[in-house]
Amino acid sequence: MPDINPFESLKEQIDDAAAYVDAGDGVIGRLKHPERVLSTTLSVDMDDGSIEQFDAYRVQFNGDRGPYKGGIRYHPNVTEDEVRALAGWMTYKCAVVDIPYGGAKGGIAFDPRGYSAGELERITRAFAVELRPLIGAERDIPAPDVNTGQREMNWIKDTYETLERTSEPGVVTGKAPSSGGSAGRVAATGRSTMLTAREAFDYLGRGIDGATVAVQGFGNAGSVAARLLDDVGASVVAVSDSRGGVYATDGLDIGAVTTHKRETGAVGGFAGADRELSNEELLAADVDLLVPAALENAVDAATARDVRADVIVEAANGPLTPDADNVLTDRDVYVFPDILANAGGVTVSYFEWVQNRQQFSWTEARVNDELERVITEAFDRLVEAYESYDVPDIRTAAYVVALERVIDAFTDAGNWP
Ligand code: GLU
Repeated sequence: MPDINPFESLKEQIDDAAAYVDAGDGVIGRLKHPERVLSTTLSVDMDDGSIEQFDAYRVQFNGDRGPYKGGIRYHPNVTEDEVRALAGWMTYKCAVVDIPYGGAKGGIAFDPRGYSAGELERITRAFAVELRPLIGAERDIPAPDVNTGQREMNWIKDTYETLERTSEPGVVTGKAPSSGGSAGRVAATGRSTMLTAREAFDYLGRGIDGATVAVQGFGNAGSVAARLLDDVGASVVAVSDSRGGVYATDGLDIGAVTTHKRETGAVGGFAGADRELSNEELLAADVDLLVPAALENAVDAATARDVRADVIVEAANGPLTPDADNVLTDRDVYVFPDILANAGGVTVSYFEWVQNRQQFSWTEARVNDELERVITEAFDRLVEAYESYDVPDIRTAAYVVALERVIDAFTDAGNWP
């Protein structure tokens, strides 16, 4: 993975779009920097009686459009700058799909695979104690991200509610349904990836039916995107995870790959594949659609030259470096950006928060219908901006739309103090 600072990538993306936006340097400068950063070190009891330290961060990037919103990830690569970038991307993602939130992100720098459930609970609750003064249903609302899910969100909610002596399920989203979570939340990121791909192929006059697909990353986003793309008639010929991938010319049985991954911990070794392939080979696979669904910087300029897909739909946050973007634009590869394609997760988080406020549960069908409406409307707005602003690519169009919405909110409110 190239050593490119994602926060620098974010700032470059904003500068690229700022040229098309009517705002002064001071306003744009504000939109390149977070409003607030919590940097803390948690000291947590381990099962063997020792005490271990964990670096943890929460970045509240921008609150002009509503409460700060964004996930918490557990990963050894977490740094303060990575979390700053991810918090910025949340701001522009919420603006692209026009939900009333600002942007935030959190992370703890460790590999959760090496820890017991009890240790993970103590680490999560220790972080929740540090987060308590910053978060709240009207203030900042965490959610799952890489290596976190319903279990961690339930712990954060319980810690917060216990300390605050209240019931406030809307303080986090991505909870288990029994704790106030929404139907359809787990599949939402993969669903918006599928919807974006479907709209993209329609827009390009081709249709998703029969399109060949390679998916890099088989976590929550990638595995669901693969399954739903298969459901709408695409042929998913290659998938991979951090250890490597598998390929089948006639398409993989995604349900069977998912079962194999659950049982063995990896997609490698799947008996229904024609052959194994590396992540580099997957990114260069001869397919119609490439879906990077792992981590930042998966595709750099060198890898971008080898990409053979002519459409990329980003399920991960920040999977292409800015140099890769330039190479792909020059090569006429259409990139449908993360801040649209993976926005299903935060959109259904918003629906969860609305349901918590209503104290009323929506059916999964209603959640999926509302999600489809939000993603298709956002898609149409981006394509319209792409065609009318004379911008080089759809990512720049997305940032122009998002920046205009955030700037409007900032201008309406005024700069105070
Ligand atoms: N972690 C997800 C993202 O990157 C979801 C965030 C949320 O639901 O707040 O978009």
